[in-house]
Amino acid sequence: MRPLQSQPGMCILPSLPSIVGRRTLGFLLAMKDQLSLEDDIDTVQLRAAWDRVLTRLQGEAPPSWFERFLKPLRPVEVRDGSVLVECPGTFVHDWVKRKYLQSLEQRVSDEMGAPLQIELTIVSRRDIEPVVHEAKPTVLSSPASEPSFAPCDRYSFDTFVVGQSNRMAHAGAKAVADQPGRLYNPLFIYGGSGLGKTHLLHAIAQSVLRREPKFKIVYVTAQEFAERFIEALRGQRIEAFRREQRNVQMWLVDDIQFIAGKDKTVEEVFHTFNHLYQQGKQIVLAGDRPPRELHLVDERLRSRFEAGLVADIQPPDTETRSAILINKARAESIDLETSVAMYLAEQVPGNIRVLEGCLTKFAAIGGIEGRPLDFELARELVERYYRHTSRTPSCDDIFRAVADLTQIPPETIKSKKRKAEIVRARQVSVYLIREIRGDSWTTIGDQFEMDHTSMMYAYQKLTSDMAHDPELRERVSRILRDLRPEQ
Ligand code: ADP
Ligand code: MG
Repeated sequence: MRPLQSQPGMCILPSLPSIVGRRTLGFLLAMKDQLSLEDDIDTVQLRAAWDRVLTRLQGEAPPSWFERFLKPLRPVEVRDGSVLVECPGTFVHDWVKRKYLQSLEQRVSDEMGAPLQIELTIVSRRDIEPVVHEAKPTVLSSPASEPSFAPCDRYSFDTFVVGQSNRMAHAGAKAVADQPGRLYNPLFIYGGSGLGKTHLLHAIAQSVLRREPKFKIVYVTAQEFAERFIEALRGQRIEAFRREQRNVQMWLVDDIQFIAGKDKTVEEVFHTFNHLYQQGKQIVLAGDRPPRELHLVDERLRSRFEAGLVADIQPPDTETRSAILINKARAESIDLETSVAMYLAEQVPGNIRVLEGCLTKFAAIGGIEGRPLDFELARELVERYYRHTSRTPSCDDIFRAVADLTQIPPETIKSKKRKAEIVRARQVSVYLIREIRGDSWTTIGDQFEMDHTSMMYAYQKLTSDMAHDPELRERVSRILRDLRPEQ
């Protein structure tokens, strides 16, 4: 790997604000003199990612939770696959750990483009510097006591680049925003991570609220729906919870795949859905797979989900990717030439979130080193940071990917439990480890503390089942594609 170096003599010193985005610039100026280049880039990326996560949570979490528990958290550094996050005091620490840790881990991993865990550490209140978090106009559609949703400003239709890969989802979203409850109800959008599903949900809400500020919209992720539902059951506040979810004109549910396997939640979603649907209220759902792959025990819910428009989002082609980069650069006042954008769009693997992270890094390096954002710098960036993403995934990466799809945690997959769905997840993991890494049967067996014959059997069983079951084949090859996007 070649270190990034400024090249005296060759480098033109541009003024910082002309090449670095507004948000990035803030971070850079704050940290410029204190950190090494290596730290700068990672920390800049972490802070930018954290900022985006908080911006979204500000619109989604109840305002009192956000102010008290989420806003005061401070990301410190990324090390060995973990993000160190400081919490002001034990109470905040315990609350966040109990209620938001999983959600934060998922969101930060998504934003950073790599699976990351969060390590919470307690610091006393006065050690914590104020968090720089952009103030944001709040668009409230209902009184403070009721759920309200402030869509993220950046996620509008204006900033959404339309290409072949997302045309139908975009058209569906526009139609729903223009005439809620009239044309497509429900609208079900599905596609891989980081391809713009959440962006479209926010864009719908933003467009409606701009036209009708009092329109009542609930946006909830399925995970949060499940958590709040269970909590309401425990605290005997189920009526209030139902009022909150049902007394609305538009119901947006993100990451719907999280309800799979949670039977009580599925039932509650079903009733909420029916209640709203019968009254002609608009329902929009987004998930990482089509309804038929959600594995809902209750077939009725699946057919409800399919009753309107089901639209997919595919990974974008290079032209769309570079148009997204150019748009994003313009919004952040980053000076990006078309040829450089094309090059990055072609070379940087992964979803749009990864691509956006690459732009932040690009601007940060240019700013810190005082170099123009030219082709040479782009080439160095790709060599340094994005070549390794074509590395062979580790066993843990594979377990995580299987866990994401099956909702069975890696520890359970690795256990000796005999429940059918766990056995299947184990077979899929064995198959993928063998296919992707080519490890010996004995080495694979070590992961499960089982002998090599069990591994061979698991592999063969899955291979023969896949031969007869196209849906299973498609599920497995989807994980394979996710893990090896370059192939
Ligand atoms: P998902 O919900 O599908 O995981 P997001 O909606 O969070 O993905 O999108 C990830 C990032 O990529 C966001 O910052 C979003 O604005 C951006 N993005 C995705 N698709 C587009 C697009 N077509 N045009 C512009 N930005 C996009
Ligand atoms: Mg999303």
